[in-house]
Amino acid sequence: MVTAQRTVLAGLFSALMFTPSTGLAVLACSDIFKDPLDAALVSIADQLHSNWLMSTYGLIGKDSAKAHELELMADLQKTLKRSGLKGRSIELEGEVESAVEILPGGLHPLSKLADSLSGRGIRVAVAPQLWARDTLGGYDTAIKVLFVDKETIVGRKTSAIMAHELRHAYTHARADMSDGLYERLFSTILVGFKTPRGNLPGSISEYNQFFSLDEILAHRQSAALLLRTLRRNPSDKEARDQLRAHGERFKEFVESGLETLALLRHEIESLAFKHNVVEITEGGMVRIEVEIAKPGIIRRFFRADQQDPNVVGLTARLLFSRDEVPPSRTSRSLRPLLIDRIDAIATELEAIHPVALKFFENTKSMRTVTEKRLFAIEENLREFAQTTTQRRKGLQER
Ligand SMILES: [Zn+2]
Repeated sequence: MVTAQRTVLAGLFSALMFTPSTGLAVLACSDIFKDPLDAALVSIADQLHSNWLMSTYGLIGKDSAKAHELELMADLQKTLKRSGLKGRSIELEGEVESAVEILPGGLHPLSKLADSLSGRGIRVAVAPQLWARDTLGGYDTAIKVLFVDKETIVGRKTSAIMAHELRHAYTHARADMSDGLYERLFSTILVGFKTPRGNLPGSISEYNQFFSLDEILAHRQSAALLLRTLRRNPSDKEARDQLRAHGERFKEFVESGLETLALLRHEIESLAFKHNVVEITEGGMVRIEVEIAKPGIIRRFFRADQQDPNVVGLTARLLFSRDEVPPSRTSRSLRPLLIDRIDAIATELEAIHPVALKFFENTKSMRTVTEKRLFAIEENLREFAQTTTQRRKGLQER
């Protein structure tokens, strides 16, 4: 049992990488740590957080804050070592400045995960200051670092968050591959800062200003893990609430995505857009940022309750492999490519829309968790996985 559990995390990524459809099967939870690390880790997280706060508000100097942070990172390294995890302090640019990187090598599941991800240039890191800032876990695509969430360490099991973030890492890695068109479609980022109330059309939740369509795939992964949690403990209120939130988001991502794409398509068709082509050195991909800015006209596409005279525009960031992009990069010569891409993304969203609706219906009014309900949700997630697998295959064979 222990041996099987030890390979779970590394196995999850490999399974996702090579046989995406089996992702659900390997999402078993595992006891990661032999000793409870709660107190030590929580204390380090709190100290890192207050150190950061004191420095931010000028109560201590930058140099002494930095020195203290490094001391705390050394403590963290020792604490992790007690559980058989080798790590080293690293400096980062982004959300946090320092973290302990989990090094490949050793039998620990997180070490194995680090090992399996290192081949893709992805690092696994622990940065407890994030937890203290309510960032539960994350994958930073710019620096390719997967931040382990507290639950995975303190709770000594693979959390839904970890599964979710692994899926982000997987999609990001796949999107750079020549046969990764499916993941490229889902790497589209929609931004609605300049729309009525600063949101995206059809959007209601906290994700209303921008999101990557990749969230749809990542949410399926975490939903599958939450379902497992509920299977084991049907009275787990937190898991139930989170699953309901997943149902709402699924529907919202798909519907808001479709509304936003329709709008973009309309404006691209009439050449009413600005664009920016960004060559991404690593991976050989090209990102095209499309901005539509046309006051008043696009207003009519918004629902009545979202109309606002201040509509200015929307931004979409689309990912292409270099050979897909024509040499001439004027609006006119890019138009067919952009229209094709938007249609392709919309087709994928349409394909999962029915199952997103079913999943929403089955999770929304879930007061008591019955066996029948769990079965229905499991069916939805299975259908979702099957649909994405078939669609991906279809695109690869094209
Ligand atoms: Zn996410």
